[in-house]
Amino acid sequence: MERALRVAVVGSGPSGMYAADALTSQDDIEVSVDVIDKLPSPFGLVRYGVAPDHVSIRSVRDTLDKVLDKPGVRFLGNVDVGTDVTLGQLRTFYDAIILTYGASRDRALGIPGEDLAGSIAATDFVNWYTGHPDMAPDAFTGFLRETTSVAVIGVGNVAVDVTRVLSKTPGEIDWTDMPQHVLEALASSSVTDVHIVGRRGPAQATWTTKELRELGELEQTQVIVAEGGDVGDPASQAAAADKAVARNIAVVADWESRSDDERPRRIHLHFRCRPVEIIGDTRVEGLVVERTELDEQGGAQGTGDTHAIAVDAVIRSVGYRGMALEGVPFDERRNVIPNVDGRVVSNDVPVPGLYVAGWIKRGPTGIIGTNKKDAVQTVACLLEDAASPAFFTALHPDEASVDAALGDAVVDAEGWRRIDQAERSLGAERGRDRTTLWSRDDLLSAARG
Ligand SMILES: Cc1cc2nc3c(=O)[nH]c(=O)nc-3n(C[C@H](O)[C@H](O)[C@H](O)COP(=O)(O)OP(=O)(O)OC[C@H]3O[C@@H](n4cnc5c(N)ncnc54)[C@H](O)[C@@H]3O)c2cc1C
Repeated sequence: MERALRVAVVGSGPSGMYAADALTSQDDIEVSVDVIDKLPSPFGLVRYGVAPDHVSIRSVRDTLDKVLDKPGVRFLGNVDVGTDVTLGQLRTFYDAIILTYGASRDRALGIPGEDLAGSIAATDFVNWYTGHPDMAPDAFTGFLRETTSVAVIGVGNVAVDVTRVLSKTPGEIDWTDMPQHVLEALASSSVTDVHIVGRRGPAQATWTTKELRELGELEQTQVIVAEGGDVGDPASQAAAADKAVARNIAVVADWESRSDDERPRRIHLHFRCRPVEIIGDTRVEGLVVERTELDEQGGAQGTGDTHAIAVDAVIRSVGYRGMALEGVPFDERRNVIPNVDGRVVSNDVPVPGLYVAGWIKRGPTGIIGTNKKDAVQTVACLLEDAASPAFFTALHPDEASVDAALGDAVVDAEGWRRIDQAERSLGAERGRDRTTLWSRDDLLSAARG
């Protein structure tokens, strides 16, 4: 082959960056990679998901950033695949495409009252506090001012992040890279009580111990185990054989044993409570939950015994889901792109030149590092396929570059570096490492210098 293999990676989150890294870390086939993202800034949920007060995890972006400096790798930001350019168009420019566009939509609870004012998705709240350009700056200003008591539904790390952000004092959070309007809205929040609601018990929660423990270390907020914290049932006892589960149980048990905590704000843990209805006329006035019992497999079975938790807002944090992209097979049940080891399949037959990695390949599970192994697996399949001469001739990529088709709206790696610098300068003015630029206009004008 006389020219380099041309690969487009759609999505610059961890899976996209790890895929670009793997493609350019081997010597068997020369590869040029364009990492395309709909946003002007790269790194996906590392920037717009991972909590801003978790600095060491967010610093993964420094590692991902180095991939953009590798020979053969380009960043094409501000390009929405499906809107600015179709997949069909991309296929004329590249030999292979790896879809790594993530799973960033929220899952619904499917209960009455979900659409009342004051009932929101954690995805929106997280997007807002991390400065995602699609969120209006005042999206939650009124919400925070008017809410004193909020139910967070879900017992995973995102629910913990949201609870912690709602429960911290201004001093505990004002050093982060959150946009200024977010810090100001959080500082004028009226929230005093957060109720975390989970269908099952402490042994079945998916949060990790480190994140869970942090809830007990907040300056002004105590943790109260309100209900369902017992773990005497056979399923919980069996689950506790796992050390990580046992640690979580111990953290909850420690909170349950405390009675002298005088911190004025509260996080209430409601285990074995299945949300059945959000009540209210036009706004949220309460959350009705049904007590559950665990069956032998640890599944939650309703008991018919219901009660209301008095809250004036509900944040649902019950998972993320992927969306279909036009022209790509999609598994509507699992909300992922069907694939075998990263090769996209349609009715079990591989689609030539189309690959997938990350959350849109396997669903929203695992930690950032999980995407590395996942992307490496996909790239191995791609390189194995590309070893066949037919791989290049089958798709006939147009000799013209994609650049002409995309025009001058693209933010390249240089543009991203200018955004990065502008954010650091803005942060320095306020005595912080960085302040996130949230508006697309500001991001684009920073990118253009
Ligand atoms: C709130 C939250 C907090 C988290 N905290 C942690 C944590 O503390 N530690 C940890 O290990 N993991 C954490 N995770 C998980 C981690 O972020 C994911 O494992 C990881 O980001 C998934 O990577 P991905 O590349 O598949 O998707 P993403 O990170 O979502 O990247 C997808 C990229 O595709 C782009 N894109 C989407 N559609 C298009 C399109 N049509 N055209 C072009 N580009 C497109 C997006 O803009 C985005 O940049 C968290 C996740 C969430 C949601």
